[in-house]
Amino acid sequence: MLLDETNGGGGHQGPWCPSCKQPILEGQKTLQVIFNDDPHGFRGSTGVYHAQCGKVFASLARVMNLNPWAGR
Ligand SMILES: [Zn+2]
Repeated sequence: MLLDETNGGGGHQGPWCPSCKQPILEGQKTLQVIFNDDPHGFRGSTGVYHAQCGKVFASLARVMNLNPWAGR
C-alpha cells in the first residue's frame, strides 16, 4: 500500500511524535507534555506524543517544571 496522497501529497498533516518521530495517527492515544522552559515547543520537547512514548517525558517534565533551575 502506498501512502494516501489525497490530502495534498504532503504526507501526514497532523502532529508528529517528538519521541519516535512517527506521525500521530487518528485514533491513536496521545499525551500532551508541556515543559515550562519550552512552552511553545521551539526546542522540540513540548508537544503531543503517543501516549506510550510520552510517559517518560511527562514524568521528566513534571520534575523539570518543579525545578526552577531547569533549562538555564
Ligand atoms: Zn511516538
